[in-house]
Amino acid sequence: MIQLTTATANENAITKARTVKPRVRVQSFGSYTVTNKTTGATYTVTCEKRDGKRFASCTCRAGELRKACYHVAAAVAAHIQLAADKQAAH
Ligand SMILES: [Zn+2]
Repeated sequence: MIQLTTATANENAITKARTVKPRVRVQSFGSYTVTNKTTGATYTVTCEKRDGKRFASCTCRAGELRKACYHVAAAVAAHIQLAADKQAAH
């Protein structure tokens, strides 16, 4: 699990996500499949909130080493959008 805070937001991961533009599919709220369209590599990213803190994990090698990877960056962007849509619906 990687704790997501603005202080630890990995600029490199965000930049890479913008460059690679992986496909993010929503499995359920908080669970995403991220596919690199070039290599076809697919990883699962989960996002959750615990004690008001956001955490994420990824099944890729970097994620297993608790490094912020671009899969997490891409999935978190989708997650925040989804959370905003949910809130707007209420
Ligand atoms: Zn990853």
